[in-house]
Amino acid sequence: MEKVVDFIRKQFKEPEQFIPLHAPVFVGNEKKYLNECIDSTFVSSVGKFVDRFEADIKAITGAKSAVATTNGTAALHIALHALDVSTHDIVITQPLTFVATCNAIKYTGATPLFVDVDLETMGMSSSSLRTFFEEHCELRTGRCIHKRTGEIVKACVPMHTFGFPCDIKLIVEICEEWNVAVVEDAAESLGSWVGKQHTGTFGKLGVFSFNGNKIVTAGGGGCVVTDDIELGKKIKHLTTTAKQPHPWAYRHEELGFNYRMPNINAALICAQLECLPQFLEKKRTLATAYKMFFEKQEIIFKWEQEGTTANFWLNTLLLKDEHQKTAFLEATNKNGVMTRPIWDLMTTLPMYQDSLDVPIPNAEYLASRIVNIPSSVII
Ligand SMILES: *Cc1c(COP(=O)(O)O)cnc(C)c1O
Repeated sequence: MEKVVDFIRKQFKEPEQFIPLHAPVFVGNEKKYLNECIDSTFVSSVGKFVDRFEADIKAITGAKSAVATTNGTAALHIALHALDVSTHDIVITQPLTFVATCNAIKYTGATPLFVDVDLETMGMSSSSLRTFFEEHCELRTGRCIHKRTGEIVKACVPMHTFGFPCDIKLIVEICEEWNVAVVEDAAESLGSWVGKQHTGTFGKLGVFSFNGNKIVTAGGGGCVVTDDIELGKKIKHLTTTAKQPHPWAYRHEELGFNYRMPNINAALICAQLECLPQFLEKKRTLATAYKMFFEKQEIIFKWEQEGTTANFWLNTLLLKDEHQKTAFLEATNKNGVMTRPIWDLMTTLPMYQDSLDVPIPNAEYLASRIVNIPSSVII
């Protein structure tokens, strides 16, 4: 274990200091754009950086429409809300995810139901999804009905865990057969691709996060992308208090949200996005070094699947068992190298118990063995 700590310290050229799991790096035009933004006085909910950010996201992902939001959770919530997901609906997701995925589903009034994850991708398992549909649902007049509750399965939210693309093409195909909309939680996967297509653009809607721990940050921020331009317009309207266009009057004809990204946050993220190609390259270099090292230690270092490109947002080890995991976490954290276990399964949280129709052995297997190791961009 000493060897591991030494190796990580060597990568970060940090013989003594604390090494965080993921710290933001500001080496571009951040201060310049922030100053510009302050000088313009447009620091709040409108401004040229918000427009530029939305254009940048479209250019990076290839999506036809992008809407900036306060954060990734708000983006997930508004995406589901815009698809009319509400009380007495069911939304399928995975038990191995950050709690925000499930919270956003719950905000709509719908119930999350969990299917298993894939052992390799750590994202939603297409075979578990198929089993769930075949054993627990039926199509009635074109709607996917969950037989046990009689509720409509409205949406499915797969997540690209740690930036490793999940089996999204097959998931979308299966959901199309069952007439269920896919909202991709791509919060962790900016810069991750399946073939030549960016994650977040396979489903009806995709969602990104620009929180401080993500690959690039707005301080706090999020984004919804879609190729459905009308749906994109609707989401922009809903996130900006649903105010009707008018030269002076305040007219609101439906329930809207203040989910706008402030221009000052957009200034920061515009500068960060300029650095994304460089960050992706540095992250791949670090991941490659880790891979070579851990293979020699006979520890599994998670790698991208064939035909996909991961952003290596958080580097991931798959340890032998719970015992080895605990020993690893203790040894590293005690020595000032921050490592973390994967999230507790959503099915173990009080809010999301009783949300299972299918077994989740892969999620349980991974939850007891996965550890993330320091992954910041090294300049
Ligand atoms: C970070 C994250 C979110 C939420 O994003 P915030 O911007 O922090 O609200 C949602 N889902 C996943 C998987 C995430 O990692």
